[in-house]
Amino acid sequence: MIRKGKQKKMEKRVYNFAAGPAVLPLSVLEQAQRDLVCLPGCGMSIMEMSHRSAPFTEVIESTEANLRKLLSIPDNYRVLFLQGGAQLQFAMAPMNILRGTGKTADYVLTGTWGKKAMGQAKTQGPVRVAWDGGDENYSRIPKADELDLNPEAAYVHVTSNETIQGVQFPTELEAGNVPLLCDSSSDLLWKPVDIQKYGILYACAQKNVGPAGVTIVIIRDDLVEMSADDLPVMLNYKKLSDAKSLLNTPPCFAIYMVKLVTEWLLNEVGGLDKMHELNQKKAQLLYDVIDSSGGFYLGHAKPECRSLMNVPFRMQTDELDKQFMDGAAEQNLVTLKGHRSVGGFRASIYNAMPLEGVQLLADFMQDFQKKHG
Ligand code: PMP
Repeated sequence: MIRKGKQKKMEKRVYNFAAGPAVLPLSVLEQAQRDLVCLPGCGMSIMEMSHRSAPFTEVIESTEANLRKLLSIPDNYRVLFLQGGAQLQFAMAPMNILRGTGKTADYVLTGTWGKKAMGQAKTQGPVRVAWDGGDENYSRIPKADELDLNPEAAYVHVTSNETIQGVQFPTELEAGNVPLLCDSSSDLLWKPVDIQKYGILYACAQKNVGPAGVTIVIIRDDLVEMSADDLPVMLNYKKLSDAKSLLNTPPCFAIYMVKLVTEWLLNEVGGLDKMHELNQKKAQLLYDVIDSSGGFYLGHAKPECRSLMNVPFRMQTDELDKQFMDGAAEQNLVTLKGHRSVGGFRASIYNAMPLEGVQLLADFMQDFQKKHG
């Protein structure tokens, strides 16, 4: 954090509200630190061993098993660990299941990331806008009767949580027989979801699931089979899946970290129902402060689709912003600046953000209002 032109030295961990890469569970970081130089029983670091070695095979297999357990992923879905981030999936999904089908793809636009996803899909085939919340500055999700869905579409794409606007689908969109594709980058593992409602669910890891470098793709068998043979192998779901994500060297360390995060969810948190309860509690603390502030704090999203992961808010004027930031930093509450397209502040309160960090922020917001309101 840069303050008054000088780097303030951080001696202890802060509460980091960054949108991503984002906070990881402390116990996970500590375990990674303990085992970094020598993975127990292996005599070397996870970063130094072959991706075809027995210990790494155990890592990638148990990471998949943990994800399957947490999300109750059915047997007719594959779990892939890929690279290129969520933005590669914006292009790769249509490359595999839209290109050459003669069909169009529907896009439900609830924020910045959905728009970007559609932009990349256009490079692979024709797209249609099934709904666009742009006129309302992406502050809500559509009602079912507002959607203009094409029953013949190759797929319909949604962004389950728009990280910038803080707009989240509370439940899955009903896509009928059309495969539902979902960018779940900023909320994967926030609660149990019904995987059977999805054709493809994908997410970069660096928000809720682990460090940057690995992208998780959960894909139904029949869609895997659609990949054309002439695709480059590294962009071909079928070939990647047949090789169990080991067509080339995968991001071994990032996958190992996902293993630790999923173990934390299973063993320390106690599963996704528990995680969801905690996420609701955390988000409620902030939304209560916003709602009871008499307009001192203004939220962005409409209440019925407010994100439990990213809470953007601003004050009526920009004048107090710097004082808010500086005051928050004094309390070790950092990286709260909002995205430039929405302004103000954004508190990202992913799974690993502890309740006490959110409570401290809520208390700080109330104190700040008392002083400046
Ligand atoms: N989708 C969403 C919802 C995101 O929040 C982000 C990252 N902020 C991305 C996609 C892009 O992810 P990546 O940087 O891994 O391509």
